Amino acid sequence: MILTIPNPILRQRVTNSPTCIPATVCRMWFHFTDVDTVGLAAPQLGICEPIILVYGVPMIKPKIIKKEGAKVIGVEGCKSIPNKLYKVNRWSSVHVEFVDYYGNLKTAVFNDFHARIVQHEIDHLHGILIDERGTLID
Ligand SMILES: [Zn+2]
Repeated sequence: MILTIPNPILRQRVTNSPTCIPATVCRMWFHFTDVDTVGLAAPQLGICEPIILVYGVPMIKPKIIKKEGAKVIGVEGCKSIPNKLYKVNRWSSVHVEFVDYYGNLKTAVFNDFHARIVQHEIDHLHGILIDERGTLID
């Protein structure tokens, strides 16, 4: 089950290292296919590990190493804040360093909507939700 606010786990910064990556990723994949979504962060399942999925691809310890372009306002929802949409300001391009499922250190560049998803999911690892980052759309 995806945790929803006001569950305090969602506001906690993840400080642990991942313990068992395949087990966590497997649980995340299960939920990823279960809920119609483009991204998911481990804390949303109550797992305090630095793992996110973006379009089903696991990224371990993701870190934004460079922000580019302009900040753009876009509409976002979050499974942890059901039935609400927020206007959120995000960088249009980010370079992200992460460890892949096989343990390789990688860097990838994400643009536009993909950049938005990655920033949203990395925010989850810092305990930041879109209700803090953006403004509610009535
Ligand atoms: Zn979210």
